[in-house]
Amino acid sequence: MLSRSEIRSALLARGLEQEELFAEARRLRDRHFGPTVLLRGVIETTNVCRVNCDYCPMRRDNTQANDRYFMSADDIVERARRIRDAGIDIVLLQGGETPRQLHAVEEAIPRIRALYDGPVEVLLNLGNMRHEQYARLRAAGATSYILKHETSDPVLHQQLRHESLDDRLRCMKDLLSLGYRVGTGLISSLPGQTMESMVDDIELTGSLGVHMCSVSPFVPAPDTPLRLTRPGAVDLALNVLACLRVCYPHLLIPAVSALEKNSKGGQSRGLAAGGNVMTVNFTGDADRERYLIYGKERFVVRMQYARTVVQSSGLDFRGSVFQDESMGSDTSLTSS
Ligand code: SF4
Repeated sequence: MLSRSEIRSALLARGLEQEELFAEARRLRDRHFGPTVLLRGVIETTNVCRVNCDYCPMRRDNTQANDRYFMSADDIVERARRIRDAGIDIVLLQGGETPRQLHAVEEAIPRIRALYDGPVEVLLNLGNMRHEQYARLRAAGATSYILKHETSDPVLHQQLRHESLDDRLRCMKDLLSLGYRVGTGLISSLPGQTMESMVDDIELTGSLGVHMCSVSPFVPAPDTPLRLTRPGAVDLALNVLACLRVCYPHLLIPAVSALEKNSKGGQSRGLAAGGNVMTVNFTGDADRERYLIYGKERFVVRMQYARTVVQSSGLDFRGSVFQDESMGSDTSLTSS
């Protein structure tokens, strides 16, 4: 665990100091999980969103101009089959925040479980919902849920997301109370964000009782109010990642594609800074083109690329650590 002032200095570390921070983060990752990386397969089920985040091209104000899509339950299950065939046992269903997609996801989850006929983690990233809706998805067989706090500064959160941080945190509590394994996450280098607020992000993560946390450097995306803002520094994001690992070694922490988007080799460095998750994209070509999370020029992670990054980092693959005992036992992922 690091004190507040130690976190503050660690966020500024560069050169040898940064290498030492990363080495400590890797040591703690390896002690808790082994020198391994979990792979998730993501299916992006809809590009429609009721929220209006200033940094996202899928924001509500762009909805009419965007070429919208909603995947059916059949399509979701078909894509999940490809994830299973690739030897991945974490199926991530991700999409904009809209109640219109709830039924398709609810129908798809048990069918994905049946498809595996054995252990599988069904991970969701679908935004704020009511307790009763989270309960329905959990009953359908969902294991885990990503709901990022994005920034712990309540004023900045409201300014950039036009939503309340309290509502977000209330949703996280609902998820935890329902037995979900929960992931939070933050964006570093947001316009208006201070270093102190990033220290708060790290401390908030520890106080939430969550199981996963991501950090993404800010990406200025086209067709958003923040399109002309400078991209977030990858070194700062990596230092946040390493601090999270040092403070909370048990967390799953992805090396996200935004690291690669802002700096070539960024995802490799994310693993070197203590990350232990990568997400491979399994959305169909036509829908993926329309899922504008960082605009059309986003970096898309494929299976072969993930394999190369993981192996060249000297790491191995492992399976999900969150499979419910009632829904199957732990399994290992094939590294082939
Ligand atoms: S970041 Fe997520 S919640 Fe915000 S507008 Fe984009 S899809 Fe919606």
